[in-house]
Amino acid sequence: MGETISRKKSFGFLNPFRSKKSWSPDSRTTSVSEYSIDELKLEQAPSRPGNKLRKKSLTNLRATPSSKSLRKKALVQSKHPPLPATRVEDPYDRDAQTGERKDHTEMLHSLAVRGSLESLVEKTKILFAGIPPETGEQFLSRFPPGAWERIVDHLDLADAASLAFSCKAFRDIVGTEAWSSLNAEENHDYKTDFLGRLDPDLPDHLLCFPCAIYHLRTQMGHEILRPTNIANPIFNCPNAFNLEKKVSRTRLVVGRTLPFPFLQLILRGQKYSLAHGIPIESMNRRYRDSNSEWSHQFRFAVVHGHLLVRVISSAFAEPALPPAGLRKLLYSPNERFTPYFSVCAHWQDGELMPSVKCALSHIPKPLDPLDASGVAGVAAHVKYRLHRPSPLITLCSQCRPMRRCPKCPSEYLIELRMQEDRRDPSKLFKHAIVLTRWFDLGDGSSPRSREWAACNGDAEYDSFAALGRRAISGTFESQFTVDQIPGQNIISMNPEGEDRGEAGHNWY
Ligand SMILES: [Zn+2]
Ligand SMILES: [Zn+2]
Ligand SMILES: [Zn+2]
Repeated sequence: MGETISRKKSFGFLNPFRSKKSWSPDSRTTSVSEYSIDELKLEQAPSRPGNKLRKKSLTNLRATPSSKSLRKKALVQSKHPPLPATRVEDPYDRDAQTGERKDHTEMLHSLAVRGSLESLVEKTKILFAGIPPETGEQFLSRFPPGAWERIVDHLDLADAASLAFSCKAFRDIVGTEAWSSLNAEENHDYKTDFLGRLDPDLPDHLLCFPCAIYHLRTQMGHEILRPTNIANPIFNCPNAFNLEKKVSRTRLVVGRTLPFPFLQLILRGQKYSLAHGIPIESMNRRYRDSNSEWSHQFRFAVVHGHLLVRVISSAFAEPALPPAGLRKLLYSPNERFTPYFSVCAHWQDGELMPSVKCALSHIPKPLDPLDASGVAGVAAHVKYRLHRPSPLITLCSQCRPMRRCPKCPSEYLIELRMQEDRRDPSKLFKHAIVLTRWFDLGDGSSPRSREWAACNGDAEYDSFAALGRRAISGTFESQFTVDQIPGQNIISMNPEGEDRGEAGHNWY
């Protein structure tokens, strides 16, 4: 209540019309209520005398011709406390703590000025008053032309073309030759680099790397990954059937590849907006291969702008398979005896396939019916029943650790699990070999980007130097679960560093 009163009073005081009126005897009589309020306040807080009244009396004094005499009178009267309205020891409102003079009018005006943007515009106008407006060309010409030429000389073709593209002034400095020379065959990579920078502005188009042209997306937002043998054009490319300018692909599993445009779409969808690409969830798959024993699961994640993929492949395995049985289980005759599961281009070198075969050798053998005849057979039967092998198999030091390909960002884990086989009612739970591959396909900037090219065997890459102690598997799994994946040593898939490819017969 006290606060509202004081505010009312202070605004009343600031009102110039009121103060003007208040000097007349009539107005004095009308503002009797204010007097009484002031007196009230004085009684409550004697340390802060009724300033408003004093100021009011001051204005009155200023307004009246005999102000000096009145002031003297007021000073005399101020020695008598019963009349607070005439106490004028200090004509200014002072801050109780700092003792500074308060000027409410100035304070209010300063607030109004600071709060308005117009005042900023005005200030800027004042600041630039007298300086004539300048065009971009004039502004850039302040720097000597020779200096600009030196700067442009240091730029590569893609940067120079981008600078020329930014505004008219820079186009005049750089010249349009940067754009025309992008069309030269040897500058193909610079052209795709330059065009790639326009990606955020072209959601309806997709950069085709073999053509170095943006094609219109024909299945806008409905692009679905289909098996490799099904034609699935997502834009009309004149080079679609040109074997020399094929779209780059990476093999996921048997019969399934990931074309590079899908990598672009997933990453664009994450980077800019869904209109630019496709939702990453639409890429997840779980299916059974109709031509083999294998089932596959794909899952994708984008971490730090890179597309990480996990492919889990599993197949039921018989115990103690002969070499021919192992080959039948593992290699696809339709794909030049490449494993059914996901592998990088370097799978033939090193320990990957021997480790898979080692893991398969750990599946316990059932009792041979030939051995189970006669007295020896009964003994074997009893022995088997007493020492029934555990369904949980512990793998050995050769096949248990996670393997990382030294030449590309791929990690492999081999497991033996008990899985349900619904197609075989005679034995519902069987041992299955499960192969998980985690790999990094890079940032989608180009099919020549390090990770994509390395996974396809097209570029040099040192995965232990590039990844260090960070595991792709750990980074991937941390996107979906807070739980740690089972701790596994990561060792090199090719510790001997032998690069014999198909010639190395170890794999077959
Ligand atoms: Zn094309
Ligand atoms: Zn083993
Ligand atoms: Zn590899």
